[in-house]
Amino acid sequence: MSLSGKTAVITGSNSGIGLGMAWELARAGANVVLNSYTDTDEDHAIAAEISKETGTKARYIGADMSKGSECRRLITEAGRCDILVNNAGVQHVAAVEEFPEGKWDAIIAINMSSAFHTAAVAVPMMRDVGWGRVINVASAHGLTASPYKSAYVAAKHGVVGLTKVIALETAQDPITSNAICPGYVLTPLVESQIPDTMEKYGMDRETAIREVMLTRQPSKEFATVEQLGGTAVFLCSDSAAQITGTTLSVDGGWTAL
Ligand code: NAD
Repeated sequence: MSLSGKTAVITGSNSGIGLGMAWELARAGANVVLNSYTDTDEDHAIAAEISKETGTKARYIGADMSKGSECRRLITEAGRCDILVNNAGVQHVAAVEEFPEGKWDAIIAINMSSAFHTAAVAVPMMRDVGWGRVINVASAHGLTASPYKSAYVAAKHGVVGLTKVIALETAQDPITSNAICPGYVLTPLVESQIPDTMEKYGMDRETAIREVMLTRQPSKEFATVEQLGGTAVFLCSDSAAQITGTTLSVDGGWTAL
């Protein structure tokens, strides 16, 4: 399948899952717009590398997804958005009674409200060109809860709800809206936590991963950013044209428990 001629905008894509999705969408032929809240030479160099390796157009637009006006500017500045991937996300862990108000507001803004603002500008663009895909990166925490993650779980459940509403509002357009719900994914951030976990529990790498980090993931394996990227490409395929308003878990069985 070729996504040649399509433009994908991926929020929060200078690292981790967003970057993995940008690579896979570009390998499938899409032009990609990368984003984060920074605007460094390195950010632009990542886009240049994707262009060079895949032969597609890739560029980087800095925009802070905690601000509605910036979310909207990102899509306007991209100029075209056939595939919208709402991926930007942050986390904070604390009990409800100790959860800092500022952290709550930031997590709700970046992890949930940004998807509303970007979609508000992107969906009319999709209608204009007669094709579109909204792909929201939620989480297993969009379907289940864990203690101490109130803002994250609330935001991710909210994203799943927003995904369904956009699907109903676009049901008779050639546009779909779905949420991908990853379990634990091996990103550079997660990789960097492995040595600390090994030291804290006095375990070798394999045991620390299986017994501590992946306690809730029955497969006892991390998902990879390439697998998440492949799931996004699948959702862009013709085979997925009637898949809308749903969640796709990529979680090694987490939500089957
Ligand atoms: P990451 O920290 O590598 O990526 C997060 C991205 O969001 C980065 O590019 C970061 O720069 C960007 N970002 C943060 N604040 C931003 C802001 N204000 N404006 C614009 N961009 C901003 O983490 P990741 O693990 O790749 O997470 C990506 C998404 O996947 C998040 O929504 C996260 O909740 C979700 N997720 C991750 C996992 C996992 O195990 N890694 C599991 C389930 C869901």
